[in-house]
Amino acid sequence: MTLFSSRVRQIGTENAFKIGPYINEVAATGLKVIRCNLGEPDFPLPAHIRDEVKRQLDADMTHYVDPQGLPALREAIAAEMGARRGLAITPDRVVVFPGGKPPIGFSQEVYCDPGDEVIYPSPGFPIYESFTGYLGLHPKPLHLDERKGFAFSGDDLAPLITPRTKLIILNFPSNPTGGVASSAQLESIAEVILAKAPPDLRVYADEIYENILFDGSVHHSIASLPGMAERTIIASGVSKSYSWTGGRIGWAVLPTPEEAAMFKTLNINYFSCTAGYNQLGAKLAIESPESGPVMERMVRAFQQRRDHVVEALNAIDGVSCQMPKGAFYVFPNVAGLCERLGAIDLYEALPADVRPRTSPSTLLQMFLLFRYGVATLDRRAFGTIGAEGRHFLRISVATALDDLKEAMGRLDVASRDRAGFESFVREGRRLS
Ligand code: PMP
Repeated sequence: MTLFSSRVRQIGTENAFKIGPYINEVAATGLKVIRCNLGEPDFPLPAHIRDEVKRQLDADMTHYVDPQGLPALREAIAAEMGARRGLAITPDRVVVFPGGKPPIGFSQEVYCDPGDEVIYPSPGFPIYESFTGYLGLHPKPLHLDERKGFAFSGDDLAPLITPRTKLIILNFPSNPTGGVASSAQLESIAEVILAKAPPDLRVYADEIYENILFDGSVHHSIASLPGMAERTIIASGVSKSYSWTGGRIGWAVLPTPEEAAMFKTLNINYFSCTAGYNQLGAKLAIESPESGPVMERMVRAFQQRRDHVVEALNAIDGVSCQMPKGAFYVFPNVAGLCERLGAIDLYEALPADVRPRTSPSTLLQMFLLFRYGVATLDRRAFGTIGAEGRHFLRISVATALDDLKEAMGRLDVASRDRAGFESFVREGRRLS
């Protein structure tokens, strides 16, 4: 007998949160930690949204509300999401959740039976893979190739689709690569899905970074393509667009009201509903003309920091970093740096029971955090299946420019500290 169910022992996690205690441990030693690990804008909640939330609290919007989401918010979401994507969306197809995360697991619960297959990008947001084990599904990572700019086409997707595929997860702009889909790319993906997949296969389009775009890039949704709205769940939320991760407001547009009703039933079972005062804050955020300029200022800052960080990383021997087009992450290849620091040999020499829990880039991540006070995330944090031999870090640029400059300086020094790296790994305290 074991305390925990076999199901829950299969669930993964999001390491961006998991390393919080490590960061506290390092900070307690007096070393200032620069947090490049979190996927959270470092801007305050815009004042007009804050004022509306306060107003709704004062108006006592503090009770149970519609478990599907307040009709007024669902109307605002339907209008905005529809107008942007050229779609007619009715509010009965919209469901509101506490954040952008719940509909990811819910989609796997709603559409998949044990043994069904879920295709998801890897590297990708870890929750896509995490739920597959929990629900007894077969994970089918679609490995993104750095040489193709982490993009993929219908040809890359086609071999993964089988009669058991129930869900294909897409995420543009992408966490962690910053990739933005071109309309040609989405057309080739849609073509393969329409040709190969049965009508009850669903596409989960995670578009939570839809407003964080650089260099004039434009957001395209696969749902806008002919034949795709009928099979696509479009997900977004307030966390990134309005720098409001603590508001816990996300939503999904389902292909039919019947499907929306299933998600609503899960909401009732898990949460009852989402806080009404925040929902009305979200409605204002979506509708207010004040939101656009605030978002633009934030995105301009991310772009400036991205430019600095990518240049600084590429100046480090053994690091190569592509220029992301959206989201607020950079995803450098650190294979050369792992080689330079001896990380690959040191990893190979670790005991057999330790190796599966770590990787050369994990050792690098831990070294940077514990010895240099720079918090990043390793490749394994974005999908473990097939991550072996792929050496990357994710650096969030949602951190002040001066701190990022300091972080890049520390990384440069760390990149030459082979002796320090070896002593850190041999000490064996924090290897995963
Ligand atoms: N999808 C992706 C791709 C994300 O990066 C995140 C947050 N890091 C989420 C969903 C979840 O967002 P939320 O905080 O609103 O739950």
